Amino acid sequence: MSILYSGGLVFDGQGEIHENHGVLVDEGRIERFASLGEFDGYRGETVDTTGATLLPGLIDCHVHLVMAGEGDPGAMVAKLTPGQITMRALKHAQQSLAGGVTALRDCGGRDYLEFAVRDACNRGQQLGPTIRASGRIICMTGGHGNHMGRVADGIDDVVKAVREQIHAGCDFVKIMATGGVMTPGVDPEDAHYSAPEMAAGIGEAKRFHRPTASHAQGAEGVLNAVRGGVTSIEHGIFINERCIAEMLENGTYLVPTLAAIDNIIARADAVADYVIEKATRVSEIHKRSIKAFHDAGGLIAMGTDAGTPFNHHGQNGQELALMVAIGIPPKDAIKAATATAADLMQLPAQGRIAQGKQADFLIVDGDPTQDIAKIAEPVHHRAVIKNGLLVDRSLARVN
Ligand SMILES: [Zn+2]
Repeated sequence: MSILYSGGLVFDGQGEIHENHGVLVDEGRIERFASLGEFDGYRGETVDTTGATLLPGLIDCHVHLVMAGEGDPGAMVAKLTPGQITMRALKHAQQSLAGGVTALRDCGGRDYLEFAVRDACNRGQQLGPTIRASGRIICMTGGHGNHMGRVADGIDDVVKAVREQIHAGCDFVKIMATGGVMTPGVDPEDAHYSAPEMAAGIGEAKRFHRPTASHAQGAEGVLNAVRGGVTSIEHGIFINERCIAEMLENGTYLVPTLAAIDNIIARADAVADYVIEKATRVSEIHKRSIKAFHDAGGLIAMGTDAGTPFNHHGQNGQELALMVAIGIPPKDAIKAATATAADLMQLPAQGRIAQGKQADFLIVDGDPTQDIAKIAEPVHHRAVIKNGLLVDRSLARVN
């Protein structure tokens, strides 16, 4: 049965707003996207979007489904049984969907439990976004992520760790290039894996056709990852001119995760002191780095790091407001969360409003290219559509 969405604006995912256009959906796909005149004589079901904007569903390229945004999420996960972790990961996937996220990338889970959630959602056995997952984070002894990750040292072990993730069924490989904010005793500016270890891990993933994402904050670690051929740099806090130049040359994506730092600083009362100290130290330079990368014409794909302290699943749209707050135009922020994110995640049927694409939509009040709060604040969301079906947004309120 077909449905015509018309009356309001359409943001196509690639940066353009269209007036007086209709989106005709049939069997979960976009049958036609054209000016209203083309639909004269249409007698089927319609959805009136007057006063609203229809855009592709948001795509979040960096979340952790097993974590719930507690002050110390890793410590909480360690207390739970595998069954409890799996159930909460499903709930988080559904909260994300209810918040307008129709596809997401899990950048590090626990013992592959999140793969069960991914498979159930992707196969339509459970309601949820399209999910891609990395499995266990690959990190060095003492390195960032070691509480949940696969610790590997030296080229042979890094290669073996990558093979383990592929054997377990990962969609991409997550490998840590530097220290980070959430792990005690490590410095975000320090490179962790050596350049040969990074190149070996990324190369092994490539051999099996898996993209790679690297947690990379300091410039030396960013360069190790970029020169090794990584697909995306996560966080990119200290990227300098050299990093930007090489990322542009290599077509490396940047996933900023401004929300991760922002939410930690906002809840200084409930997060460990060493986390606050590091988050405060890196916040301003992070914002400047992301803006500089944008202004240089780099590929930015939206990611929140949802699951980290007070960075809740379902509030993912806040990342767009943070991008706009540092001077990125709203159109570019929305493109980062739709077309560019779909490109990074290799989801050719998503992230754009065009004939043949999947009917994954977010419909929001007003015009988000004029006021990003219309996307950032779920109170302005009118509807979330996944595969052509209306999502029950009461899922967002499940505790
Ligand atoms: Zn993360």
